[in-house]
Amino acid sequence: MQIFNRATPLQKEITQLKRMGKKIGFVPTMGALHKGHMSLINESIQSCDITIVSIFVNPTQFSPNEDFDAYPRPSDADQAILEALNVDYLFMPSVSEMYPTDLSLTTQVIVPKLSFQYCAETRPAIFTGATTVVCRLLNICQADIAYFGEKDFQQFVIIQQMAEDLFIPTKIKACPIIREKNGLAMSSRNQYFSSEEREEASIIYHAMQLALSLFKKKLVLARDLKTAMEEYIKNNSSIRIAYIAIIDSESLKEVETVESENRILFAGYLNKVRLIDNIKIQ
Ligand code: AMP
Repeated sequence: MQIFNRATPLQKEITQLKRMGKKIGFVPTMGALHKGHMSLINESIQSCDITIVSIFVNPTQFSPNEDFDAYPRPSDADQAILEALNVDYLFMPSVSEMYPTDLSLTTQVIVPKLSFQYCAETRPAIFTGATTVVCRLLNICQADIAYFGEKDFQQFVIIQQMAEDLFIPTKIKACPIIREKNGLAMSSRNQYFSSEEREEASIIYHAMQLALSLFKKKLVLARDLKTAMEEYIKNNSSIRIAYIAIIDSESLKEVETVESENRILFAGYLNKVRLIDNIKIQ
């Protein structure tokens, strides 16, 4: 695996590979790699000739009171995982490489409306930061396909819209959520939890399963499913709910009457650690 810290030499290398007709896959991450990230990487390795992974903890998607400094950065362990998976290129830029000018003066990419709902209500910078950095990374990597997890469903929809609006030629592909055995969606932030807390956090998955089972019993009002989930979470955990929304998966608009293919979005906190999850209604 070749490691690049600078964008220009990586761009030159990729231009060469593209001239040779290689199909390029790209997986952007913030590191602290787990099986969720690995599933995206394996998908790229299976479908593409060359796989590029980036590790960059992006400061512009954290608000001032969030865990940017504390975010785990186990770079030796991450590199060993990527070597073992046979990744071809790792891009690990510094903050000044990705943002050479003062952050307040730099170009930002903003997908309106969608970027200011749901998760952005409590984390205002998250999606404008994500689109700004992902646009830069896509321009550097010139990939044929870029892989994103459905774990961050709102982010995936926003990035897909950005790519479409800006005529970015990379195909944006979604990959399914990878979970722990107890149902908890894998996340780099799960490292903050003890094993008891991981069990408690799995209540979110069980609450979503409860909503799916009620839907199967023909309960179709979003309000009722949300209330059932809220009560289940309150009765079985100390998780603080930020929001539960049942949405149309393309427009992200909340629905009143639930149908197959809608999605339940969840965000909340367990002991100050933010948790997000979602599931398709079916
Ligand atoms: P992150 O490092 O958290 O920014 O995530 C990098 C990519 O991995 C994003 O596209 C995430 O949606 C994806 N990802 C994170 N956790 C999971 C998971 N449990 N299952 C599938 N994809 C995931």
